Amino acid sequence: MKIASFDDHRVGLVEDGRLYDVTAALPAALQAVPAQRINWLIAHWDELQPALARERAASGGRALDGVRWLAANPCPPHVFAAPANYRKHIGELGTRVVTKKGRTAREQGFFLKAPGSVVGHGGSVELPKASARRFDHESELAVIIGRGGSDIPRDRAFSHVFGYACLIDATMRIEADRFEEERTMRKSFAGFTPLGPWIVTADEVPDPQRLDNRLWVNGELRQQANTGEMIVGVAELIELVSSVLPLQPGDVIASGTPEGVGPFAPGDSLRIAIEQVGEMTVQVRERAALSPRPY
Ligand code: MN
Repeated sequence: MKIASFDDHRVGLVEDGRLYDVTAALPAALQAVPAQRINWLIAHWDELQPALARERAASGGRALDGVRWLAANPCPPHVFAAPANYRKHIGELGTRVVTKKGRTAREQGFFLKAPGSVVGHGGSVELPKASARRFDHESELAVIIGRGGSDIPRDRAFSHVFGYACLIDATMRIEADRFEEERTMRKSFAGFTPLGPWIVTADEVPDPQRLDNRLWVNGELRQQANTGEMIVGVAELIELVSSVLPLQPGDVIASGTPEGVGPFAPGDSLRIAIEQVGEMTVQVRERAALSPRPY
């Protein structure tokens, strides 16, 4: 199933190019916290099936054109991210990265992106005004956690996966000895974590380590790789993260970028496509207000 979040946090199923509104399957109490609907749906997935089927059958559906998409999960409890998880990406950015000396995600561990930096298909990546810094795209497979838990061994990790989405890990680069801001902030400007266009449930992705992952800037192909090239695979990422902090339903793990990372600028259009998952486009814009310090 493909589960989308749209308009004012309504929840829909995407089937055969149409969107079916199933929001009424969720408890009315969630109207007080609509951004939590996807987390609740994930946590109560099995018991929700009859109500989802009922609402799906009752909904006439609508065309996908004109839908205002929100992030696939608009309010993930956490966004964990793997650095240096594709061999050919390691080293391609020289001194502009904090993961140096050929260290991989296995040695470095994960970092965090602010959950509030997520945005959906058709949304905007917002750059600081009048910046001369370099901002890069990183094309990544996002893993959406279903059942939470601590100390999840890798051989049971897939039973904790709810589904997958496309994720762009937008990043402001450091410049050694000049600009070396902390990583969480550099990757957490508004809109710096496009996540979408929907969540595809794990049953539709038999092998997440065999997916083509591509990213274009203004129609030009910049990144192309297969998730089979990951150094630390999805199962081991879940083992690693859950050994530090309990995973929660709705958590997102960004699994790292392959080579081809490169800059984008205001006015650019970024398109990511992951086989069996979907395709998402976002626009790069410049913020209207000047920041209180230069970037
Ligand atoms: Mn990344």
